[in-house]
Amino acid sequence: MKLVASQDGSTQSNSVPISEIDILWITAGLGCDGDTIAVTAATQPSIEDLVLGAFPWIPKVNFHNPFLAYENGDEFVRYFRDAAEGRLSPFILVIEGSIPNEKNKKEGYWATFGTDKETGQPITTCDWIEQLAPKAWAVVAAGTCATYGGIHAMEGNPTGCMGLADFLGWEWKSGAGIPIVCVPGCPVQPDNFTEVLLYLLNMAAGRAPMIPLDDALRPTWLFGCTVHEGCDRGGYYEQAQFAEEYGSPTCIVKLGCWGPVVQCNVGKRGWMGGIGGCPNVGGICIGCTMPGFPDKFMPFMNQPPGSLLSSSAVMTYGRAIHALRRFTQASLNKEPHWRSRTKD
Ligand code: SF4
Ligand code: SF4
Ligand code: SF4
Repeated sequence: MKLVASQDGSTQSNSVPISEIDILWITAGLGCDGDTIAVTAATQPSIEDLVLGAFPWIPKVNFHNPFLAYENGDEFVRYFRDAAEGRLSPFILVIEGSIPNEKNKKEGYWATFGTDKETGQPITTCDWIEQLAPKAWAVVAAGTCATYGGIHAMEGNPTGCMGLADFLGWEWKSGAGIPIVCVPGCPVQPDNFTEVLLYLLNMAAGRAPMIPLDDALRPTWLFGCTVHEGCDRGGYYEQAQFAEEYGSPTCIVKLGCWGPVVQCNVGKRGWMGGIGGCPNVGGICIGCTMPGFPDKFMPFMNQPPGSLLSSSAVMTYGRAIHALRRFTQASLNKEPHWRSRTKD
């Protein structure tokens, strides 16, 4: 399938829709497999919805994830071998975990998946990506380790690991002309991920334009707003009601919340079934969807330097406005004077 630019600048499919597609999910980056576990909680849509044909217009999906598959060992790896050798196509390649630098040492390896049938030696995750990415219809990075490197790519780590765009190149595109799709989060918000898969499946069916991505290759409709813009505690921030310790329902910016500058939708979307969302339930936002995570957000429990200025600015009017609102509120809590048997 080829994608071409249309007159309005969007990119659309001009060839036969795909009727069946495999999703090949490699969890063998440097990671904790938390993204796979998170996605089992998705409901909008669920993995079951995607693979059991709940959506009539998308291609039939054959889903291969080592944690969720019935097969194991070579029986499971064969799908990946087939894809690498051109016998399985089309497929979407999903990478979970950061990608190590296998060239920064004399011997050994950092991450592998399966073994070479001839040599019996482990096949590195890097080799798999190099073989599979050029053949993939689309490549998706699941979670912040795979997108930007994440926790494993902290300064000074010995693995030299990185995200998929640093490994393949930020300008990389699949044979179908699709850039790497990054769905960050540590872990990824479950519905964000399955929704992105659903979008790509609609693209594969010829029913959606090119997926819109921002400069960090994140889907724009999911990562276009800040946590702060969707946070349950935003009203407290505006009134300069800042918590000094955990357990308070007020804004937790002084406890280290980076929500005002972090692009993430969990404040609105919640975590599972619409429930939760870090600051909504009292957890500071530590910026896990951002390419600079974690180093640029540390130490986590300190007030973000930028918010010292903004929260002070809010303080000058927020408290006065809050006091005035209490005044108005008191008046609104009284019924109009005519609703009384003793009126007049
Ligand atoms: Fe685990 Fe977070 Fe890395 Fe996902 S992004 S593999 S949840 S550490
Ligand atoms: Fe903004 Fe964080 Fe306060 Fe929520 S808790 S209003 S995201 S600073
Ligand atoms: Fe990560 Fe912050 Fe979003 Fe929570 S609110 S998922 S810490 S970016």
